[in-house]
Amino acid sequence: TREEETKKITSICPYCGVGCAIDYYVSGNEIIYAKGSPNGVNKGDDCIKGRYGWQFVHSEERLKKPLIKRNGKFEEVTWDEALNFVASRLKEIKEKYGAESIAGLSSAKCTNEENYLFQKFMRIVVGTNNVDHCARLCHASTVVGLFKVFGSGAMTNSLEDLENDAELYFVIGSNTTHAHPVIGTMIKRSVKGRGAKLIVADPRDIELAEYSDIHMRQRPGTDVALINGMMNVIVSHGLEDREFVENRTEGYEKLKEIVKKYTPEYVEKLTGVPKEDIIKAAVLYATHRSAIIYAMGITQHTSGTGNVASLANLALLTGNVGKRGTGVNPLRGQNNVQGAGDMGALPNVLPGYAKLGTRKAREIEKIWGGKIPEKDGLTVVEMMHAASKGVIKAMYIMGENPAVSDPDQKHVIQGLKNLEFLVVQDLFMSETAQLADVILPAASSLEKEGTFTNTERRVQLLHRIVEPVGKAKPDWWIIQEIAKRMGADWNYENPKDIFEEIRKVVPQYSGITYERIEKFGLQWPCPDKNHEGTKILHEDIFPTPNGLARFSPYEYKPPAEEPDEEYPFVLTTGRTYEHFHTGTLTRKIDGFNELIPEAFVEIHPEDADNLGVEDGDCIEVESRRGKIKVKAKIARIKKGVVFIPFHFAESAANVLTIDSLDPEAKIPELKVAAVRLKKC
Ligand code: SF4
Repeated sequence: TREEETKKITSICPYCGVGCAIDYYVSGNEIIYAKGSPNGVNKGDDCIKGRYGWQFVHSEERLKKPLIKRNGKFEEVTWDEALNFVASRLKEIKEKYGAESIAGLSSAKCTNEENYLFQKFMRIVVGTNNVDHCARLCHASTVVGLFKVFGSGAMTNSLEDLENDAELYFVIGSNTTHAHPVIGTMIKRSVKGRGAKLIVADPRDIELAEYSDIHMRQRPGTDVALINGMMNVIVSHGLEDREFVENRTEGYEKLKEIVKKYTPEYVEKLTGVPKEDIIKAAVLYATHRSAIIYAMGITQHTSGTGNVASLANLALLTGNVGKRGTGVNPLRGQNNVQGAGDMGALPNVLPGYAKLGTRKAREIEKIWGGKIPEKDGLTVVEMMHAASKGVIKAMYIMGENPAVSDPDQKHVIQGLKNLEFLVVQDLFMSETAQLADVILPAASSLEKEGTFTNTERRVQLLHRIVEPVGKAKPDWWIIQEIAKRMGADWNYENPKDIFEEIRKVVPQYSGITYERIEKFGLQWPCPDKNHEGTKILHEDIFPTPNGLARFSPYEYKPPAEEPDEEYPFVLTTGRTYEHFHTGTLTRKIDGFNELIPEAFVEIHPEDADNLGVEDGDCIEVESRRGKIKVKAKIARIKKGVVFIPFHFAESAANVLTIDSLDPEAKIPELKVAAVRLKKC
């Protein structure tokens, strides 16, 4: 029977940053079913996306051949024709306008090897640092904020110690059971099973709120005030960890001075959270072995860096760093956001976060055999502005869909249309691909080899489950073929070849080999072949010049756009359990579409009453940038706040969002925009 013919191959889930190992059961070149593998970080758990989300691989809508747009229509061409055309157009544009007129978007959905090669291509072959990826939109503020305080921008702890040893979870700005379901389940299990405490801070009544000891519904954009308020209580109650503060940190006096005015009464006014809850949360957090878990509710703000640094300050103040069951733990959205950053797919740093123009950059130049430009490149949002102004003339976009994922959609589409040349490498005819001059069909992560690095810094090996559809090729192959046609002498035979070069360039990865991670990944830093990887960061010393962590206090600053008489509601955006990001993959799956077929707006019952709206009614939501129509969903959400998921291109939440940036991390404020509502 077919069941008997199936073979099991284990690889890594293509969706979120948890990086679950999934056992795929395959017959011929077809996946039959899948389930969480007992041999991964997930220990057999999975979620709807891990279990059924692979179905996009076999979708009829997959791109199977390279396409060139001629007279407004896409025509199928051979690989040779497409690659020659891309290389010659990029060369022409570089010669005519200079390398700085070209920009590239790498992808947190692609492997480490592919991200490494993509940024190397942009830097050495094209000759610009204009390379970025979607981390700009999700965790750029994590990297800057945590680096400022701890000297390293990564998740401090491991899923295993959080599960076993955290006495308390402080979940802020993370709808964990929807966006990182296996971690959400782990938290619920710890709360129910071994009595761990749970504090949730979120304007929505997310599922975890039901399990919490305290649920603080802060106004979106007031997190710095809330966290400063908790620190004010901790200091005034004498609950700080004096020994830790004295021996392992600097800058405490300045922190104390700044948090002084954030009394619970003042913070209640700013955040809308009752002062009793702020006091209770602060005392609970300070008196337990506590782990902070956060996601984009913290990072996607004009104060994103301040939010992240404030959480790190809170952990330092109470000595909740460098120990099992503690730390500051950002949950990465995409499966390889951590890796794409580690590989230097960023405009201001090289692989391993080496700074441009330094001795380390010179060492990398020697390995690469070429000159790396020293000027910082443009970030995602800056690229789109530059495209609109005609400064960027060509873009190479690999596996990203900025036409739907980026803020202020109308402006992004204008920018993309304004380009002289756009090449998109993708699995599907995404909204961005439709605007391209050339489309290159890519293999999915279940059709190739390579590595992903999950949210807890674990580098994991992918195994090919099925052969690529049609003529689709792995991204690393495509990048190399374009590079060769532009004069590069590259001869990588497979992803392992590229990884061996990564080991020389990125010190954190030096000790990791494909052989060592064949069965289970290793966590960086892993400096040599005998090193077992690092489960917990900062146990003895912080990676700062003097080994001390640096308190970096922030004052509360209101979001870029606050509600007013004209636009009285606050819009916040996010994910659902069933869909993922711009829906490029999950909206190809019938079962998921049946569960959540379209966009909706969550609205508080009283707000709905005032507007004369009932569940399921059509609502027009309008901001200063555009308007969309969506179905009303009466929900338990903070009054005056509405929520729309961003998966649905036909009623895209990002038509409404604002592209104001955090000044330090340049992350846009996707979580706060002022809107008005009316019944359609
Ligand atoms: Fe995949 Fe994330 Fe679900 Fe795990 S939790 S199965 S990695 S989507």
